[in-house]
Amino acid sequence: MTIEDKIKALREELHQHNYKYYVLDAPEISDYDFDIKLKELQQLEDQYPEFYDSNSPTQRVGGEITKNFETVVHKSRMYSLDNSYSKEDLQDWEKRIQKIIGVDKLSYTCELKYDGASINLTYENGQMQSAVTRGDGIQGDDVTTNIKTIRSIPLVVPNSFIQNFQIRGEIVLPLDGFTKMNEERVASGEEPYRNPRNTASGSLKLQDSTEVAKRPLDCLLYHLVDEGNTYGTHEQSLANARLAGFKVPDTLKVCNSIDEVFKFLQFWDVERHNLPYETDGVVVKVNKLQYQDELGYTSKAPRWAIAYKFKAEQVSTVLHEISYQVGRTGAITPVANLEPVLLAGTIVKRASLHNADQIEKLDVRVGDTVYVEKGGEIIPKIMGVDVSKRPVNSQPTKYATHCPECNTELIRTAGDAKHYCPNEFGCAPQITGKIQHYISRKAMDIDGLGAETVELLYKEGLIHDYADLYDLKISQIIPLERMAEKSAQNMIAGIEKSKEIPFEKVLFALGIRFVGETVAKKLAKHFKSIHALLNASYDDLIAVDEIGDRIAKSVLSFATDETSRKLVDRLVNYGVQLEISAEEQANQSDTLAGKVFVVSGVFHQMSRNELKKAIEDNGGKVSSSISKKTSFIVAGDNMGPSKLTKAETLGIPIISEQDFIDMIN
Ligand code: AMP
Ligand code: ZN
Repeated sequence: MTIEDKIKALREELHQHNYKYYVLDAPEISDYDFDIKLKELQQLEDQYPEFYDSNSPTQRVGGEITKNFETVVHKSRMYSLDNSYSKEDLQDWEKRIQKIIGVDKLSYTCELKYDGASINLTYENGQMQSAVTRGDGIQGDDVTTNIKTIRSIPLVVPNSFIQNFQIRGEIVLPLDGFTKMNEERVASGEEPYRNPRNTASGSLKLQDSTEVAKRPLDCLLYHLVDEGNTYGTHEQSLANARLAGFKVPDTLKVCNSIDEVFKFLQFWDVERHNLPYETDGVVVKVNKLQYQDELGYTSKAPRWAIAYKFKAEQVSTVLHEISYQVGRTGAITPVANLEPVLLAGTIVKRASLHNADQIEKLDVRVGDTVYVEKGGEIIPKIMGVDVSKRPVNSQPTKYATHCPECNTELIRTAGDAKHYCPNEFGCAPQITGKIQHYISRKAMDIDGLGAETVELLYKEGLIHDYADLYDLKISQIIPLERMAEKSAQNMIAGIEKSKEIPFEKVLFALGIRFVGETVAKKLAKHFKSIHALLNASYDDLIAVDEIGDRIAKSVLSFATDETSRKLVDRLVNYGVQLEISAEEQANQSDTLAGKVFVVSGVFHQMSRNELKKAIEDNGGKVSSSISKKTSFIVAGDNMGPSKLTKAETLGIPIISEQDFIDMIN
């Protein structure tokens, strides 16, 4: 077998495994085996860049950064849909179309209306060429690099399917994945995302495709645009698209009358709550493609389709009490405690009230009968008040002025919707929250110590901040409830081991507001030590790539806070890593600051990854595609011919591995 054949075979095999895992939900090999094969392919592609293919499964991990998404005019317009809300509306629609095409017996397809962001995929010669957002329907944004990271979208379709077409679908973020993403955000002190739909559409416009690749996005297809009407009916075109590898939900049903359509609507109005993703209605379409052509479009929507919107399920119940929760950062969230009520299949006892403005806007009061709705958000929300049921002696809600946990007066800074408890070091949920964050997996990753134990240790007066962990003695821990000698030893060993955790993670663990994992990495790399970071000025801070006003101010307020500085000093004394290691330091410089490199071909003195790391360690940036912004191309053996031509046309200097090494030494 030639190398080229081997690469092709591996690609085909990996495409198939992606399809089985992400579309059929029936994987045939383990994740581990998949990764091994993917690595094998990556190595071959690195070694033989002349066989580069923009639709290879290796392209799924992202890597390209897009600053400005190009606007593209759609080949055929992406219309909106007319809406209907009742059976009568549907019957009227049927009469109108029967009249236009002069047929009284029509068959329809019913599909769920997936709630996400619409996308138009274009394939040429069986290969995916581009993915464009709906935009205003006439033109949208080219988000191809981001869309390619979505594993359930085939990058190549088999020969048995038409080869030149567009296909449309909805990018959705399934509920499971959404919840998981939010748990991680909350763990790193960030605000959770509000709802899956906005998060899905926001994801398409992220600049870094590697970030998109990390999000569990999915694409559900609903319309094949094929001028030849190859498959005769809408249902057949989708059935064939499904065979070709696209994810077409099997909830689709052909109905032969409006009565049948209505049964479908009633069934899914309830059952949709059990689906893994959100839907907001049903789309009914004339099944026969020839009839669709005859019916055509109004200025806004196809005549051959109509959407039926589900009513968001709403119930009313009594609000007993408004309580206030304090988060790790001191942010206060008002919560409505309700008379338990059944809503969309679950018993609801609590609903979010968001913030003081929201309470004021709705004029929500204790004792009121309120309307609760489960919308896009996972936590139900209060939509309004049934004022007719308001008790006579009801009083307007006075928002909490003091912290429910420590009684400190709450503050609210201009432009911030939330109130905060400023008693950072004396407020129980903030104290334990910070320690829990410190020990968490992505921070200091302390084995043998969990969230509940932190609360116990705090209650027993053994710890008041994370630095206290390093003072704990086995003899203090053993007498505690449910603690044996073994577990106490594990805990102490885990704490001791955290002294080896690298600076960037420690920086994240400190829990400085807005300094999440990625920001911590950037700051650690730039400032190299906590000392340099805490002595940096506002201007020094915002000069760092991607660090803005909000983060800079937050770092400054941490740096000027005496308690925080003392805490840091104690950590330094205990031997926690508060600067990057000597080894890392030796390899770093700013020699390449502001320079963008593209690396191509096979190298001898270092591996491709070592080369990339060397670029970044010396302040340069690595990009995967050549553009006007590229400063240098580091070319090894067998650099791809297309890259070579592109570099030459743009006049970008091509340097050798040795040239590069000379550059950084
Ligand atoms: P609207 O935005 O309310 O006018 O509805 C039109 C949008 O519904 C389209 O742009 C699609 O993104 C979306 N949609 C979701 N599911 C479907 C479906 N099964 N068929 C057609 N459109 C759908
Ligand atoms: Zn407090």
